[in-house]
Amino acid sequence: MESRVITFSRNVFLPLTSVCANRCGYCSFHAPVGRDTLMPPDDVFHTLTQGAAFHCTEALFTFGEKPDSVPGFTSLLKSITGHSSILEYCYAMSEHAINCGLLPHTNAGILTADEMEMLRPVTASMGLMLETTAVIPAHANSPGKDPERRIEMIADAGHLKIPFTTGLLLGIGEDRSDHIASLEEISALHKKYGHIQECIIQNFCPGVGTEMEHFPSAREDDIANVLLLAHEILPSDIAIQIPPNLANAKNLISYGVNDLGGISPITIDYINPEHPWPQIEELAALVGDNVLQERLCIYPQYIKKGWYSSHLAPLIHALNEQVADQCGA
Ligand code: SF4
Repeated sequence: MESRVITFSRNVFLPLTSVCANRCGYCSFHAPVGRDTLMPPDDVFHTLTQGAAFHCTEALFTFGEKPDSVPGFTSLLKSITGHSSILEYCYAMSEHAINCGLLPHTNAGILTADEMEMLRPVTASMGLMLETTAVIPAHANSPGKDPERRIEMIADAGHLKIPFTTGLLLGIGEDRSDHIASLEEISALHKKYGHIQECIIQNFCPGVGTEMEHFPSAREDDIANVLLLAHEILPSDIAIQIPPNLANAKNLISYGVNDLGGISPITIDYINPEHPWPQIEELAALVGDNVLQERLCIYPQYIKKGWYSSHLAPLIHALNEQVADQCGA
């Protein structure tokens, strides 16, 4: 088989808060308001400094959805960080990331167009998993998982020309027809706005203590089938990503996978803490005869199109040269 380029991003994971307005049946991340559910500025600074020392290029800011709406959160946030809202805090920490030489990528759940515009100057790319277009019991207590709301946000990001990551979560109660419908929706959004840089095909892994603790994980052949569908349905300029800490990348890479997502040399996957990322040195073995290449959180085609703020331009250009040098391009 012809050798392909498989990309990854070297990142640090910054879970600013695990407080969330939703209650997904499979979630082991969300937590009630409390001091240990907020990452204080000193911890963010320390992680960013370490990330810079390890040549990371991406600061992945991920947090629960609309935590400001959860009683007690904003007063806790103010007392620990001095900021009045999670997005204000995210903006300030993104500035620190940029000063440390890392590009912010933000996964903040549902945001309005105005909120995305507010973060735009300090954010190289954003993400929101569509997960599924199906209405499923696992989302019964998660208003933010209404597929229409998620599609609306992804469309708003397209309208704003924000390089965007989305994807499917497999095994949470959807079926094959839902996989097709979800991929067709992502394809249609990309055909309209041209902003989807990658589609993650992520398998649900049951977490201890969650409502869905005893549900089976998605099987490898089911993941492979969805990868084949993704290859068939999605436009070819959308990278197809699998998380190598959750799925067997070595077995699945031949099903059209061309990206392994963010891999961190220093932080864990806080969403799936029982599943450590492979070391970056191990990725070459996973991709086999294919060519492993580092990328930024903003993909090259969006750098060429200039889909980034003037504030981020110097760092994007410098890091783009850095990763190009590393792959010998
Ligand atoms: S999966 Fe995400 S949106 Fe759902 S409860 Fe957990 S943190 Fe909130």
